[in-house]
Parts: sequence; C-alpha cells; structure tokens
Amino acid sequence: MQYHSTRNNAISVRSAQAIKQGLSTEGGLFVPDSFPRIGTEEIASLAGKSYHDRAYFVLSRFLTDFSEKDLMACIKGAYTRDKFGTDAIAPVYKFNDRVYFLELWHGPTCAFKDMALQILPYFLTTSMKMTGEDKEIIILVATSGDTGKAALEGFRDVNGTRIIVFYPDNGVSEIQKLQMVTQRGNNVSVAAVKGNFDDAQSGVKRIFTDEDYKKLLDRNGFKLSSANSINWGRLVPQIVYYFSAYADLLSCGEIKVGDEINIVVPTGNFGNILAAYYAKKMGLPVKKFICASNENNVLTDFIKTGVYDRNRVFHTTISPSMDILISSNLERFLYDLSGCDDAVVSELMAKLAEDGVYEVSADIKAKITEIFDADCCDDKETMAAIRDTFTEGGYVIDTHTAVGKCVYNKYVSRTGDMTKTVIASTASPFKFNQSVLIALEDYNAVAGKNEFELLDMLEKKSGMKVPVSLAELKDRTAIFNTVVPKEDMENTVSDFLKVE
Ligand SMILES: *Cc1c(COP(=O)(O)O)cnc(C)c1O
Repeated sequence: MQYHSTRNNAISVRSAQAIKQGLSTEGGLFVPDSFPRIGTEEIASLAGKSYHDRAYFVLSRFLTDFSEKDLMACIKGAYTRDKFGTDAIAPVYKFNDRVYFLELWHGPTCAFKDMALQILPYFLTTSMKMTGEDKEIIILVATSGDTGKAALEGFRDVNGTRIIVFYPDNGVSEIQKLQMVTQRGNNVSVAAVKGNFDDAQSGVKRIFTDEDYKKLLDRNGFKLSSANSINWGRLVPQIVYYFSAYADLLSCGEIKVGDEINIVVPTGNFGNILAAYYAKKMGLPVKKFICASNENNVLTDFIKTGVYDRNRVFHTTISPSMDILISSNLERFLYDLSGCDDAVVSELMAKLAEDGVYEVSADIKAKITEIFDADCCDDKETMAAIRDTFTEGGYVIDTHTAVGKCVYNKYVSRTGDMTKTVIASTASPFKFNQSVLIALEDYNAVAGKNEFELLDMLEKKSGMKVPVSLAELKDRTAIFNTVVPKEDMENTVSDFLKVE
C-alpha cells in the first residue's frame, strides 16, 4: 500500500516513509491510497481474539511494508498488561442495554492518547531502520496537557530518539503539570513557556520551518519529527479499538453479526472520530457518527452547515483537551469526501489559512449529513452529565467523556434513535478530579484540598481505584523547572541538545 498527500496525489510513499516524515513536504497529510474491505464474517472472527491479534488484523492491512515479525513486535511492545493494567487494553463498559463506554484511558497517562503514543515510537524506530535513517530523531511537542505526557511516556528511553515537550506555563491542570515535570527517562526534556498554548504551538512551528536551524541540527546528527495526530502512525492505531469494541459487543451477545451501531466521540482535532469513520469505510457496521464538542463548537457548525469558520472566541473549558479551533485531521476527511481531489483540498486549506473560513460543496455537505450528526454543550451541561451518569448507573466519567454523553442524550431526544451506541471514553475521571468532584458534590467539598486529597476523595466516591501512575506522583520530585519566554524556545532546544 502506498500513501499520498492530501494536497498532492503525485506524491507516493510507503508507510515507513510517511510515519518518519509526519507531514508531507508541501504541508499535506499522508493518507492510504485505498481502504481494505473487511467482510462481516471476518469481523465476527475477531470476537474470540486478543487485542494483539485484533491490532495485527487491522494494522497489517495498512503497514504493508512492515514484516509480520516487526509489526507484531511493535504491537506486543506497546500494548502490555503492565502498562494498561488489563489484557483487554481497551475494555467496553456496559452502562445499560443501549449505551456502552469504550474505555480508552487504561494506559500509563490515563488518557486515550496512550492508545497511539505507546505504539508510535515502535513504528518510528522500525521505520527508521527500514528507511536507513542514521540521524537521531528529535520529537518536538507543544501540548495543552495530554499529548505531552503521553508522548514523554511513549518515547522515554527509546534508542535513537529524544523528546522535548513545551507546555504553557499556566495552561495545564495541576495533575498534568506534575505528570510532565516529574518525567523520568534519559532522553526527555520538558520546559514551560510563558504564554498560552498557541504561543507554545507557534514556537514549535517556527523551529520546524527555520531552515538554517534545521541545517545546524543536521550537522550535529539530529532530525526533527512530530508526534501529533497529523502523523499517520498516530491515527492508524486508533482504527483498531473500534473493531475491538464491536468484537466485544458480539462476544457478550449484546449485538448480532452485521448489526449496525452508533459511535459517539468527544472531539477536538478530529483524529479519533476520523479513525472511527475509516473503520466504517473498511466495513464496520456503523449507522451514525455523533461528533461532540464543548463550547468551542466549530465542528458542530461545520457538520450542520458545511461552513468551517474559525473566526470566533476561544473558550477555556473544563474539557481542555477539546479546546481547539483548528481541527487538523478534518483535512483527511475532506480529501476522502471529495473523492481524493487534491486540488479541492488545497484550495480549502488555503482559504482556511488566509481567511480562517471555507465552505464545502453541496455534494460534500450531503455526504457529511448522511452519516454524521453533531452537537455541543457548555460546562454546566457537562457537569450535569457527570452527575446524571453517576446517579443513573453509579458510573463516573471524566469531563471530556461527559461532553460525549450529554451530546448523545440530546441526539436521542431529537431523533428517537434507539440504536445501540458506543461512546468513546477518552480520559480517566481521576485526571480531571477537581471538576468531576465539583459535579458530583459541590464547590465546598473540594475547597482547600490538594490534588492527592482530591484523588482519595474521588476513589471513595466512585468505587474506582486511583490509577497508580497518578498516586505515585505524590512522591516524585520535579526535575524540570525551566520556564522560558516564548522567543527563547529555539535556544532551549539548543541547550537540551548541546548544539551551538
Ligand atoms: C485529545 C483528546 C480529545 C480529542 O481527541 P481528537 O482526536 O483530537 O478529536 C478528547 N478527549 C481527551 C481526553 C483528549 O485527550
């Protein structure tokens, strides 16, 4: 299988090259040249299989240049019981006869980013071997919280790589900050940037596009790469768990072979929901995708109207990993819907860059509304969804998953659709302990409590165990105390790498 760029069909590379490069040279994203079809009987055969076998089943169809031995080594290295606390890796929780939560947060950093960032370093090092890369790969990350920690955990002590993470000084939760500044590993660096997430992100982009700086790194034996969801190696592992969830529903007798389900995804960058859409293209029986946004509802408007308009106020919400106004993976979706028309995608992306707004054709719009539904909710509704879910089923969900649940409830009241539904549960409630506890109790209950008291409180309330990786932060000392002005990020990288 070959990969093309969404902005230039003439570009054609193998998956190893696409993963190593991250982004195509003219700014497009890599997409596979076709989607392998899988029959319903074949999907049904996954019911009795392990997560490793399910992963191999899906990944081997896309990473066709990887040998069976190499690919299985990637899968077995990434998805271990030790790291995920369960052999199921991504277990399905039955909430009632119609609603199921796909728990994607059992990995080492307690958010769904682990599902991809645990395996990406294996893909990348294998790809480097396959393409004869002799430079050391430097992963540069700007994070609003979850990606940074998940990337640090994934890449720590991985030979041939180093990772540098920048986070906004005052833009992440206390737990998220603790997770990053106490990171261990012999190839990791973390720094806070004085500013917000956009400042950190722009700083990283500047470094990526500074040709002189890249030459300097090159002379010193370094090559930059990216671990965010524009990389195909981060997207493809996410297709696996939708097949896995379907197989689990089959094996528990919740659905029959060929039954259609709905899938709800709390969405930011459009990566997770795109992976679900790709699963449907491959043959997974899905009736509707329900795209859930918080107050940053640029995608809700797009799916309803066909107009993407990022010119709006940015809201800081209690579901911060979805606070985003440019959903970069939408580009892959548009490529698909336009019938792989690179000219259409290039034009739309140019409009987005220049005016911050574009409108898709009537044909594309019709295709979207046929299988996608979308809605949004504010923080108050998110809180109410956490409370109601607990009252109804004794089950505690995090703020992001709650956006999904709230939007799903709105969808059912609006449509009466009683199709069995899987809601992607994207973070452990412990990671957003304060907001979750305020929802379950009230402000007074959390006042004056530190992070670890809050974790204990939530453990008692929920009946779930505090994840070990969060509990042990208490005894960790902060290693990375650097705070840099946003203009100084390049120097920070030079200091870490000891280049001049
Ligand atoms: C990243 C993230 C999301 C959004 O996922 P996208 O793939 O960017 O749409 C949702 N919830 C949590 C907890 C996340 O970390």
